[in-house]
Amino acid sequence: MTDLFSAHQFSLLFLFALVSSVLLQLWLALRHINHVKRHCRDVPSEFAEQITLESHQRAAAYTVVKTRFGMMTTLFDAMVLAAFTLGGGIEWLSQLTAQWFTPNSTAHGVALIAALGVVSSLLSLPFSLISTFVIEARFGFNQMSAKLFITDLIKSTAIGAAIGLPLIAAVLWLMGAMGDNWWLYVWATWLAFSLTLMWVFPTFIAPLFNKFVPMEDGEMKDRIVGLLNRCGFQSNGLFVMDGSKRSSHGNAYFTGLGKSKRIVFFDTLLKHLSPPEVEAVLAHELGHFKHRHIVKRLVWTFAMMLGLLWLLGQLKAQMWFYQGLGVTTPSTATALMLFFMVLPVFTFLFAPISSMMSRKHEYEADAFAASQSSSSDLVNALVKLYRDNAATLTPDPWHSVFYDSHPPASLRIAALQRLAN
Ligand SMILES: [Zn+2]
Repeated sequence: MTDLFSAHQFSLLFLFALVSSVLLQLWLALRHINHVKRHCRDVPSEFAEQITLESHQRAAAYTVVKTRFGMMTTLFDAMVLAAFTLGGGIEWLSQLTAQWFTPNSTAHGVALIAALGVVSSLLSLPFSLISTFVIEARFGFNQMSAKLFITDLIKSTAIGAAIGLPLIAAVLWLMGAMGDNWWLYVWATWLAFSLTLMWVFPTFIAPLFNKFVPMEDGEMKDRIVGLLNRCGFQSNGLFVMDGSKRSSHGNAYFTGLGKSKRIVFFDTLLKHLSPPEVEAVLAHELGHFKHRHIVKRLVWTFAMMLGLLWLLGQLKAQMWFYQGLGVTTPSTATALMLFFMVLPVFTFLFAPISSMMSRKHEYEADAFAASQSSSSDLVNALVKLYRDNAATLTPDPWHSVFYDSHPPASLRIAALQRLAN
């Protein structure tokens, strides 16, 4: 790849990709806002019996506010990225931290990446505050007190540092010490790290943020155990999580791998859905397991990461890569940072592929739920969830192609109704 670009050409290429991806995101957001507004006067006929005009318009207002805020975030993030790279922000941080550490040592690299982490978190903090205490609060979703927000922030920073810093140190050391094939060693380390994290997360980390209590005996539990037995599914327990202490959005999920698998219901979900509806939602989640979607996604992520690390291995040796992104004193840490900061700019165009895969999986999980439980219960549960979460029933089709991990409401429900007939 020697001299594929000059530094100047690569700067221009990056700038072009950055501007195009921002324009594309803003265009999609504007389309989405206009589409939602155009369809807010009437409830779509297929939902007219279950969703009131008031709920429909509340969902529209929520979607518009969130999408507008997303546009501001997109613009701000792009400016920050440009300032860190072309504006020389990373170069400045690198020289600043080099005053205290031997330049290009592992310690210097860790300090540099930590410094970048601190600066980026501070920059994104106002957005997180506005999202939680203004937008979510205005629509009645936020349940967080300022105190909980601050303790969450402290806890997640401490855990992030305790887990992240040793990983970064190991990666930087391998990148320097393992010769040309370092990317294979880094990949293997990252793989082992990710699998360990998935295993310890439900048992050791999640309980630091939420309470998990075993589900109480009763109709709900009987139905769920019945479903699990029918599907031949083994888990390490059914838990209810106090999601309501942060948000009134509801959810259900699986965590963990192998025998440490847990099924977790948000208390908010159990409060709003009837036992048959919860059963149908769980059947959908089991569908993801039966179709091995989680394993497929993991394998796909691991393969992508291998390819990306190989690419980083090629770029790390090219001066134009650093200089084109505003770094004049190349180091292992700056290569790693630049690569993962700039990557999304070049990959946004491929977002529809991953969203499409995800939507296909959702249809498969719905079909499984319909076969093991009842499709009409699932439809009822979904309609309630759309309503209670103020999720729009009328997304813009192009916005959906890029962003939606789940099929749009009307298509999804139509598919379930076909299965019922
Ligand atoms: Zn799903």
